[in-house]
Amino acid sequence: MPISANRYFRERFGGKLYKLALDGGMTCPNRDGTKGDRGCVFCSGAGSGDFAAARRASVLEQIEAAKALVAPKNRNGAYIAYFQSFTNTYAPLPVLEALFTEAIQHPDIAALSVATRPDCLPEPVLVLLARLDRIKPVMVELGLQTIHPATAAFIRRGYPLSDYDRAAERLTALGLHTVVHVILGLPGENEQMMVQTVRYVGRSGAKGIKLQLLHVLEGTDLATLWRAGQVPVMALTDYARLLGRCLDALPEDMVIHRLTGDGAKKNLLAPLWTGDKKAVLNYVNNYLRGKGYVF
Ligand code: SF4
Repeated sequence: MPISANRYFRERFGGKLYKLALDGGMTCPNRDGTKGDRGCVFCSGAGSGDFAAARRASVLEQIEAAKALVAPKNRNGAYIAYFQSFTNTYAPLPVLEALFTEAIQHPDIAALSVATRPDCLPEPVLVLLARLDRIKPVMVELGLQTIHPATAAFIRRGYPLSDYDRAAERLTALGLHTVVHVILGLPGENEQMMVQTVRYVGRSGAKGIKLQLLHVLEGTDLATLWRAGQVPVMALTDYARLLGRCLDALPEDMVIHRLTGDGAKKNLLAPLWTGDKKAVLNYVNNYLRGKGYVF
């Protein structure tokens, strides 16, 4: 049965770990003109890093500022340095090495997590991440969202599935904990297609998965389509049932790093019920408990 991230962290690190969202000051090939200049159709422009610390601050300053926000809750005192905004391997190697090293040298940082794209992981970067993994555990988060080419074109993902296959294979060979982001509810996909994506991830060597329902955020091209009635949104009951099907499709030891979205509430247009994260998690966890899953 897939396991929760909290259980995984408890077993691996001896307690709960809090993520500190950091910003390495990078952009992404879907925004800087390399592959596109409008970004993915759902991306808010903050590069999925709506909670990351201010861009101008140093890594150490960002760690301290982010720690101050969660320190009262964190009894364990250990954190994950999470480079979240945009594509966090999209910079020259020495820049990446300096940023990541600064983060893992902090005594309260127990692990490093780097969010990126499969087409931005050249071999020297993979070798760097594998080297850092021998100092402190490194997780690499890949934004896949879907395995279906038509949906990938619609969302303007900007790379083919073969890039994911190659990256997943190398990351697995190097022993890095790979976490794959999948978006459920993308326009044009039925439940069977979504479950196919999840099953594919489970067989690709990835150790973890983040499942998130499509959010329509203000200021995105998706918002324009939604206003034109072209983006159907899911009800909470349907989402919980779909999550159950997705978990059924995953291998036993898969780590579930997320079951809901985490978008900034102030920009959320739909579905509005996702704004009450606590209520959503309560409902989803209750439903999943009925199927024997405990998160
Ligand atoms: S790849 Fe990530 S940061 Fe770039 S546009 Fe897409 S969601 Fe935004």
